[in-house]
Amino acid sequence: MTIYTGPVFDMARQQFQVIADYLEVPLDERDRLLFPKRGITVSCPIHMEDGRTAVFHGYRVQHHLTLGPTKGGTRFSPNLDIGEVAALAIWMSWKCALTNLPYGGAKGGITVDPRALTRRELESLSRRYMQEMIPFVGPHTDVMAPDMGTNEQIMAWFMDTYSMYQGRTVTEIVTGKPVASGGTLGRREATGRGVAYLANRALEKLGIAPAGATAIVQGFGNVGSYAAQTLHERGLTLIGVADHTACYYDPRGLDVPALLRHAADKGELAGFSNQLSFDPRALLAQKCDVLVPAALERVIDADLAAKLQCRVLAEGANGPTMPEADTVLEQRRNEIFVIPDILCNAGGVVVSYFEWVQDLQQFFWDEAEVMSKLYHVLDRAFAQVLGRAERDNVAHRTAAMAIGVAKVRGAKNTRGLFP
Ligand code: NAD
Repeated sequence: MTIYTGPVFDMARQQFQVIADYLEVPLDERDRLLFPKRGITVSCPIHMEDGRTAVFHGYRVQHHLTLGPTKGGTRFSPNLDIGEVAALAIWMSWKCALTNLPYGGAKGGITVDPRALTRRELESLSRRYMQEMIPFVGPHTDVMAPDMGTNEQIMAWFMDTYSMYQGRTVTEIVTGKPVASGGTLGRREATGRGVAYLANRALEKLGIAPAGATAIVQGFGNVGSYAAQTLHERGLTLIGVADHTACYYDPRGLDVPALLRHAADKGELAGFSNQLSFDPRALLAQKCDVLVPAALERVIDADLAAKLQCRVLAEGANGPTMPEADTVLEQRRNEIFVIPDILCNAGGVVVSYFEWVQDLQQFFWDEAEVMSKLYHVLDRAFAQVLGRAERDNVAHRTAAMAIGVAKVRGAKNTRGLFP
């Protein structure tokens, strides 16, 4: 029996079993590696503007504390459950281990559609959630960050709430804060830029020049918009884009600066164009060089995997590819270069780590230093994954996860089992 259920958790568990088999992890070690150390659920009551009291359910899952504090984003989403949060926490563990960060994985969130709240309600809910979590988090226990449906402003409210209870400013309790409140330069752009950077490295490996190459991006929030912008700056032509409100496709190329201005102004892509509207279900299967799913998990199933016409699949989102799709992609390894999520979107947590380090030391770096250190970490992880995949003739995802799981396992085994 476990409280962690649902399709996203099943997916994380299935992926883990594949890796555990490949690494020949003894059966009696597997549960200790897979199941989260802690899962916290809270009820968050708040006053609504119309005078009602509403109660929202919040979660935080801390996967393991073997290598240091846990680290992970906070998701505000209408269908969120603890199984999804646990899966995301587990993926964070493998990601942090792959990039050599001194963290275990965590994730948290609230089952809520943030767009349905007024700003004041959103602030109340964010503050109440953080207040409920105070007994379980801390700069050396669990450090939060943004994820889907949350942003810098919400991180500032989290940090302020925690600080009010401590009686002093504790910037290092969250990352992804505004620069004005102790955030780091480069964090906002880090995940999307990292995705674009690694997509370029993959194109290099395939001998495809960025100028003349095409890209399609699903999701135009923090990750998708910066990925699209950076790919555009690197010379690629964006031919397709979608968010939850609209989907556009133009093989001659979309106007990226205009899309960015529209999204910044309206908060969504709807209303950008009538002529360029396209079927969102068909978008990902269009021919392109770089495909970036940067919205939700489980968007590529086996059927879609068989239809993909991209050369590089750069996974900006967490868990966009289902295990059945991996089986298909495994057979298409020579056609499609997969940059698995725990590598591809690691820029976010790497720069979050830099933010935490800067906050702890109260010594801040300029943006160039942040970015060059980020690219150094990504290059190292990319080379390790490619090297392992080639050595053992396995898929990039298997190689990336194996490096992460083996590191956590090694740390657990050398520390031993208490008592
Ligand atoms: P966000 O809330 O800023 O943006 C999410 C985007 O996805 C929005 O544009 C939304 O419209 C779009 N979307 C939602 N449902 C959609 C649908 N059905 N079809 C098309 N688009 C849809 O979130 P984000 O921070 O950009 O996160 C996106 C993904 O990247 C998530 O999987 C998240 O876990 C992952 N991720 C985020 C970070 C980070 O630093 N923010 C880091 C690593 C991974």
